[in-house]
Amino acid sequence: MLDLQRFRAILFDMDGVLYRGSMLLPGVHELLAYCDEHNIAYACVTNNSTLTAEQYETKLADMGVHIQSVHIVTSSVATRRYLAQHVPRNTGIYYIGMKGLQQALFEDGYYVYTEENPAYVVVGADFELTYAKLRTACLAIRAGAQFIGTNPDTTFPSEAGIIPGAGSILALLRSATDVEPFIIGKPAPTMFQTASTILNAQPSETLVVGDRLDTDIAGAHAANMSSVLVFTGVTNAETLTQSEVQPDEVLADLPALLTRWKTLVEKSPS
Ligand SMILES: [Mg+2]
Repeated sequence: MLDLQRFRAILFDMDGVLYRGSMLLPGVHELLAYCDEHNIAYACVTNNSTLTAEQYETKLADMGVHIQSVHIVTSSVATRRYLAQHVPRNTGIYYIGMKGLQQALFEDGYYVYTEENPAYVVVGADFELTYAKLRTACLAIRAGAQFIGTNPDTTFPSEAGIIPGAGSILALLRSATDVEPFIIGKPAPTMFQTASTILNAQPSETLVVGDRLDTDIAGAHAANMSSVLVFTGVTNAETLTQSEVQPDEVLADLPALLTRWKTLVEKSPS
């Protein structure tokens, strides 16, 4: 059993943890209120690079949950933060992606969009992908540009069914260049590390709450963070038993997590 009292920050995966589709899951308001009361910082973390943090803020607000966009860390936001630590201002970058990535990389003018000799090629999901974009990215990577992928998800759930995600576009470019992209999103550790830095918490003080073993829980392991799996998303007891990746604790849902946390605090001598 995890000692929940040592955590000063929580990173919530969103779909399957806070909501499913556009339906809020039980216990979100109560858990966030508890965090606010007890100075536990929290952020929402998603591999989705297509939407901006503000678009997620609006999506959550439409469900009655008010979380500021600075506490919503998409793989685009994390990519930009990673670049800001390693790549100087005014560097030329080419990207394949949508509004979420375009805004994160270029809106404040820190980096320069270019198709001519970019130093970096950043690739996320792009619902308007063309051969011309793939060609530009391929030539740049072959000419020595650093190749970065926002997230490795090969597919993406849509209303019509499962469609290609960022990882499928990365696979095409990997095939065309023989270069492996550096990945930001989970199960790589960079996005979780970025989110805990935003919350001023060390990895050892940060708890990841997710519904997927291969991304949320594996990513928590890679970032040296503890993890709780909830059964409100894609994982059930059977898939958990069969998985090599195991969380530190398994709980039915967010109300169960809150109950666990409250029980501990009430038992605490302090
Ligand atoms: Mg999820």
